[in-house]
Amino acid sequence: GDDLATKYVLFKIFFTGMMHENGLPLATAVSVSPGERKAANSWKPYEDSYPLRPLDEFPQTVEVWREWLRFRWMLRWPFQQRVFCSFALGELLFFYPVVAIGVAAGVLAYLGIGVQKDIQLTGTLASIPFVITFAAASHNSLFTFLMGIPFERTITYHRYSAYVGAVLGALHGFLYEVEGCIGCEDGGEDEYEAGRDKGNKNETDGDEARASGWILQAAVFGLVAFSFSPIRRLFFEIFYRLHVILFIVVIIFALVHEATIVYIGAGIWLLDFAYRSVAAAIWNEHKATFTVLPANVIKVTFPRGMWKYKGGQYLFLCVPSLSIFQWHPFSISSSPAEDTVSLHIRVLGGWTRALYNMIDKSTEKSMELGILFEGPHGETTVNLDDHTYEHVILISGGIGITPMHSIMNSLKEQYKRGRPLKKVCNVWTVRDRFMINSVYSTNSKTNMSVNNLPMSFQPDILHIDSDQELLSGTDSIFKSRLYLTKLQRNKDEYLMANISKEMQPWLRYGRPDLKRIFQGFCRDSLPPRTRVAVLTCGPKGLVNAVEKLVRTQSNSRVTFDFHKETFEF
Ligand SMILES: Cc1cc2nc3c(=O)[nH]c(=O)nc-3n(C[C@H](O)[C@H](O)[C@H](O)COP(=O)(O)OP(=O)(O)OC[C@H]3O[C@@H](n4cnc5c(N)ncnc54)[C@H](O)[C@@H]3O)c2cc1C
Repeated sequence: GDDLATKYVLFKIFFTGMMHENGLPLATAVSVSPGERKAANSWKPYEDSYPLRPLDEFPQTVEVWREWLRFRWMLRWPFQQRVFCSFALGELLFFYPVVAIGVAAGVLAYLGIGVQKDIQLTGTLASIPFVITFAAASHNSLFTFLMGIPFERTITYHRYSAYVGAVLGALHGFLYEVEGCIGCEDGGEDEYEAGRDKGNKNETDGDEARASGWILQAAVFGLVAFSFSPIRRLFFEIFYRLHVILFIVVIIFALVHEATIVYIGAGIWLLDFAYRSVAAAIWNEHKATFTVLPANVIKVTFPRGMWKYKGGQYLFLCVPSLSIFQWHPFSISSSPAEDTVSLHIRVLGGWTRALYNMIDKSTEKSMELGILFEGPHGETTVNLDDHTYEHVILISGGIGITPMHSIMNSLKEQYKRGRPLKKVCNVWTVRDRFMINSVYSTNSKTNMSVNNLPMSFQPDILHIDSDQELLSGTDSIFKSRLYLTKLQRNKDEYLMANISKEMQPWLRYGRPDLKRIFQGFCRDSLPPRTRVAVLTCGPKGLVNAVEKLVRTQSNSRVTFDFHKETFEF
């Protein structure tokens, strides 16, 4: 029941221009008229791409920044092309070969093939992957800056490189225990003991190295074991706390074990941590209004101030009164042009539940709380910053609407300022029994009678469709469709679902025919070639279906370029 009601509220938030009981607007409509568009024909490529915060203070760097971004996209684009299943060229050229070479070198050194068996060498080879592990855990790293690969995608490399390091570390440990020294495989017990201490100044040093090595190895295995996705997702809080503790153990024992190469990566991570801490503690906003909405949704708003972000990005939010150590990622649902930043948080587990309960206790169901946040993160892998795409498809499911809503409104706002766009299609799929349930039941959590909800739905995103001035022929540029996947199209159910007459043309029933939507874009393509940006966020099944269509529907006239977002790391 709660789950269904949640979806109903999300529907209301994103597809209505109605006011919530507490007087806060649930969504802002961006309507565009050609008059407005002509008057403000000022949009320039890359002007909405945020500069790094310190650069903000120097307006003369803006041009340099824009040129840099243009160059970075040029550089980045070939490496992002999917060449084999869902593997990008960059991954196939750089990441996997580096991993393969690292593993091969470690194994060869362990077996003594091509090089003399050497404990020191196997130890060094085991340390190198951890440089990548640390560097890839940085929210703002060289990867992010140079290649524009955002944190949530580098985190995969963080994980894989740690697995490689763990395996090579184990081989290094076994070599120490079994072989003991360089070339001692033919020697007896005495030679083994002598050999094992050969690299050490004395016996105590040898024991210390052995103990610190195994503690290091145990910590790494602990980190790896809890990072496997079923365990991580099920016990996220335990995983998170353990991650921090074991990280500290690794840092200390890497020093004791003289595995100092690891410190290159740790240094990069610490620099990033310092930057994030300064941004969160000094530059970014410190107060936000939290409002409980019916059905386990919390709306967070705070003034944007000088902070900049792009449509579809997310931030890490911390509420110190709950815990200074917990930073949770949330997509920004407002569009970058708005003066107020908004997030919509759905209650899921421990932290979100505690937040909800705290606000729910207040008499007004709304309160101001101190916050810390850092970001933005999550740049799209398709370049929406310049003229590359005049055709855009946005597809989302459930709560995945948040980043798509932001992108849609951001594109509308840019269109208003003269950005050339030909067709933008926004598809949101939700099951719909929630609507019926919500309208005819009471939400037990908030004690609000959902029967009193207004009797019609006026989706603000869909407003543009009815803006006659914008119609070119019979088609408007911005199209939005809401698919209610569990309701059949018949008159009684329209009534039961409480959908207003004006809204009915924009609603679709059953699952969207995504293939037809793609084919529609193929039909509209213009010679010599049209590039369509496809962005999706939602359940895995939906994201995979969209990804498959991107691969199969691209042809000599149309290229579909793909960006996906899931709410999981
Ligand atoms: C890029 C991104 C954007 C997101 N945007 C939204 C949004 O707009 N609205 C929304 O309601 N939810 C969003 N989420 C999901 C949201 O972050 C989680 O629902 C929230 O962190 C759950 O925390 P919890 O303690 O209540 O639940 P828990 O029970 O502790 O965790 C439930 C699941 O949430 C994930 N999670 C928990 N804590 C974190 C963390 N610190 N970092 C990363 N993942 C975590 C884990 O997969 C975990 O299995 C987003 C997630 C990501 C990765």
